[in-house]
Amino acid sequence: MQNGSGKNVLKPMDSEQLREYGHRMVDFIADYYKTIEDFPVLSQVQPGYLHQLLPDSAPDHPETLDQVLDDVRAKILPGVTHWQSPGFFAYYPSNSSVAGFLGEMLSAGLGIVGFSWVTSPAATELEMIVLDWLAKLLNLPKEFLSKGNGGGVIQGSASEAVLVVLIAARDKVLRSAGKNALGKLVVYSSDQTHSALQKACQIAGIHPENCRVLETDASTNYALRPELLQEAVSKDLKAGLIPFFLCANVGTTSSTAVDPLAALGKIANSNEIWFHVDAAYAGSACICPEYRKYIDGVETADSFNMNAHKWFLTNFDCSLLWVKEQDSLTEALSTNPEFLKNKASQANLVVDYKDWQIPLGRRFRSLKLWMVLRLYGAETLKSYIRNHIKLAKYFEKLVSQDPNFEIVTPRIFSLVCFRLVPKNDDEKKCNNQNRKLLEAANSSGKLFMSHTALSGKIVLRCAIGAPLTEEKHMKEAWKVIQDEASFLLHK
Ligand code: PLP
Repeated sequence: MQNGSGKNVLKPMDSEQLREYGHRMVDFIADYYKTIEDFPVLSQVQPGYLHQLLPDSAPDHPETLDQVLDDVRAKILPGVTHWQSPGFFAYYPSNSSVAGFLGEMLSAGLGIVGFSWVTSPAATELEMIVLDWLAKLLNLPKEFLSKGNGGGVIQGSASEAVLVVLIAARDKVLRSAGKNALGKLVVYSSDQTHSALQKACQIAGIHPENCRVLETDASTNYALRPELLQEAVSKDLKAGLIPFFLCANVGTTSSTAVDPLAALGKIANSNEIWFHVDAAYAGSACICPEYRKYIDGVETADSFNMNAHKWFLTNFDCSLLWVKEQDSLTEALSTNPEFLKNKASQANLVVDYKDWQIPLGRRFRSLKLWMVLRLYGAETLKSYIRNHIKLAKYFEKLVSQDPNFEIVTPRIFSLVCFRLVPKNDDEKKCNNQNRKLLEAANSSGKLFMSHTALSGKIVLRCAIGAPLTEEKHMKEAWKVIQDEASFLLHK
């Protein structure tokens, strides 16, 4: 691309080039999916590998798409862990789908930044509509719908979701208790709560000594006991502190523990504590009537969060947050600089999502969720969830039939927590063996699982939820685990 004087002239958005390159990129990605099982699921590169393969500085002159794609094949893909591979069972899934992908493409294509209604009315309005649709699928109480004081918003992550509601709750209580009361505010959660809450407390200035991390154990399958919460709240009140925030879980990260929302919510409500429910992973399952019971009691919550980017076929990132009182969010997070003023906002006629989140700029994320809901429909999404749970049951059965292994916590959704059993009650040796087993299995390239610790036990987590996973992949994964285990046990 040169002008008459030989200087490079950039034509960054040329429709015909987009058409040509776009087709080639889609082909590249489609081929990637076709051959995804040929790659080791967990990248096997060493730290710093890419520095040795790429130049120290950016090119001065244009290179071709072929050159870039060659480098993607040769240099980037070896350093990719294949989250969409059917052998990916680590952490929690992060689903992609054709519909989600197309929605992302459309969002990138339109290239809007929808911080205020006026910057692209469709972006705000579609987000409100789609979050209402999903709230209805989850059978959330009507207070979470956008018609009244409540509503939903798409955040980038569950971490952002808990941070914004924590800040909303903090400012709400400080408005009556006075700014100097910050040091008295107390947050409650179980020891199974995701570290995102701790980070949110650090950012929001909650004193670390006021974060009550309540202990759980196997007797409740790692769910928080309401008596423990009640005790802690009473003790803090007696000490002149101000209980103000409770985070409960539906599907903890370690083991999918489900806290008893109704009982916890009752305590929170009667003490004017903001009640947040983190259902980042398991929320998706609750669109199925048979799993809806796990969010019974959500009517007592002030906010509810689920990541559509985990187990709902919506490409990362798409974290759904509903609140009952949008004013609490906007009072804590809104700003109104001259350069953003406009008639619709000034007249209070519209939602400006910039006031529901940390950043100003925001992507048109609702498009991909809308496309997922429309191209698949709720019934297909329910079958999708049920199928993963069926595969998890199958894997659980394989594990439980082998006397060398045990299921550590009862499976609820599509996560199976298991381990090699200890011999002669030697828990330390058992933990070492489970670590070694995991490393060996992951080095096989055929699967990727992760681990956690429950009551001091190292536990292997098999989280089923990649869109391409089928029963044969579960069989293969189990064979890898069994082969590696038998090698370890007979060494
Ligand atoms: N909450 C739970 C239960 C999770 O499992 C996770 C991540 O796996 C998070 C919160 C944090 O999610 P995010 O990466 O969206 O911040």
